[in-house]
Amino acid sequence: MTEGDGRLLGSESPINENVGHSQVVTCPVCGKEVKSLRKLNAHLDNVHGFNDKHASDVESSRESSVVGLNTHPQDTTLGSNNKGKIKMKTAHWKKPVDGKSVCFECGHKLNARNGLINCRKCGELFCLNHCKNAIKLNESGEYDTTTNGIWFKCCNTCYTSREGYNDFGLSKDVTSAFKRIRNTKNEDGELISLQLENRLLRLINGIIKINVRHQYSILSALRIKPEISNLERSIVEWKDDQVALKCDICSQPFGLLMRKHHCRLCGLVVCDRETSRCSSEIPVLNLMSAAPDLAFENVESLKAISQLSADIRACSSCLRYVFAHRKLQFNKTLQLPEILKQYENLHNLEMIVVNLLPRFKKALETLHDNHPSEKNAVHNLAHLRRKLLQNLALYDKLSKRIVQLEVKSEAENKVQRSIALHASAFIEEKMLPLKKIPEVLNPTTDKVEVTKSSDLLFNNLTIAEVKKYREELMVLREQKYLVENMLNSAAKERRFEEAISLKSNLLEIDMNINDLETKLGDEGF
Ligand SMILES: [Zn+2]
Ligand SMILES: [Zn+2]
Ligand SMILES: [Zn+2]
Ligand SMILES: [Zn+2]
Ligand SMILES: [Zn+2]
Repeated sequence: MTEGDGRLLGSESPINENVGHSQVVTCPVCGKEVKSLRKLNAHLDNVHGFNDKHASDVESSRESSVVGLNTHPQDTTLGSNNKGKIKMKTAHWKKPVDGKSVCFECGHKLNARNGLINCRKCGELFCLNHCKNAIKLNESGEYDTTTNGIWFKCCNTCYTSREGYNDFGLSKDVTSAFKRIRNTKNEDGELISLQLENRLLRLINGIIKINVRHQYSILSALRIKPEISNLERSIVEWKDDQVALKCDICSQPFGLLMRKHHCRLCGLVVCDRETSRCSSEIPVLNLMSAAPDLAFENVESLKAISQLSADIRACSSCLRYVFAHRKLQFNKTLQLPEILKQYENLHNLEMIVVNLLPRFKKALETLHDNHPSEKNAVHNLAHLRRKLLQNLALYDKLSKRIVQLEVKSEAENKVQRSIALHASAFIEEKMLPLKKIPEVLNPTTDKVEVTKSSDLLFNNLTIAEVKKYREELMVLREQKYLVENMLNSAAKERRFEEAISLKSNLLEIDMNINDLETKLGDEGF
């Protein structure tokens, strides 16, 4: 960051607007305040030697001020005041030699016409054109920007080689100062948001209390409203709206269409225009869910959380203070890697299964205790079992998807492996009690169904059953034919081990065919 100086016109001072037509301007070189542009001009001529015609030292420009614009003695500057106090050493000044001295920069012979001047810093001789810079020097001729230094003439080399010089003016690093200011502002901001948070918490806790107190009263609606109004007034002192002429946020004047509202958190008078949204009424529940980290009290005493129907009016500035960093943190927590996001879903499924299993086991026990034909118990058990199996299937699917995810780091890789291990162990453990059930469950449910739909019977079978058994029989006969062929070729090629297992398969198929044929009786084909 730089602070310009340079030879420009003085900048207008923003502080003094009430001086009238005579503007106060500051000198771009030394920062001194001057009452008018005219006086600045004179100041530049006198103190900084900007008067080209009379380019000379401060001492000689005092004489030129008679010729120049300014003749008021009170305009003599600090520099010229100090002038009397300090005596510049002149030992290093080069002595001019008549007719032989040349300008150290341009080499022109120096005479009365083009000037003959020593640079106050290096002491070399120059023509007037090459020694017209102003620089602050102290008694020993050293560059000095403190009050010890006063303005002197110097050559271009001395001017440009001074500390902090750059082509666009003096450079001054104000970054650290800026940082300091910024930090204190940030700290202020944190303090403000803490204070507003406290008010919001007090307000919401108060509203909850009022609701709890009246929740069983018939007149609750009549009582809650005025109590909340009183509470709102106690949180922060409200600014007098009689004297408020314009919105404290958007500065628009109030009128018939611009109604006045008080922010319940800062007490300022603000508008509620749609376009500027300087303030808005927000349901308490929304505020609570947007700041779940605040310590809300007595929520559990409410009959139902939805009964909190009150709104709180807050201005946009307060809302930003309280909720801006919350939204930020909310966003931060959302930046989870894909694998952890998926794991959350997996974990949820796991919890469902873990919660369902004890219920299932209990239902199974009651079924064993009572008579197994209890319809409701069987139904319940079947329902729970189906639910468990569905969730486990989903769990299995999701865990496989996680295992196939592309991982981005070694850490994620580790997480992936442990999820895979855990998931397979979990499925095996939880599937075990479910596997035993079919024997208990299926015969009973089948029986129920069979007796229900016994309108048309063939050998005590329904039409559907006949159809089903016939299909099964067909498949088995096809299988038998295939296995017989395989057995023959295995025997031919002396693959005896294969032949033995094929033989036992064939026996099994024959048994099943016999079974089905007896069931179907005359309906077989
Ligand atoms: Zn100045
Ligand atoms: Zn020269
Ligand atoms: Zn010099
Ligand atoms: Zn407004
Ligand atoms: Zn406010």
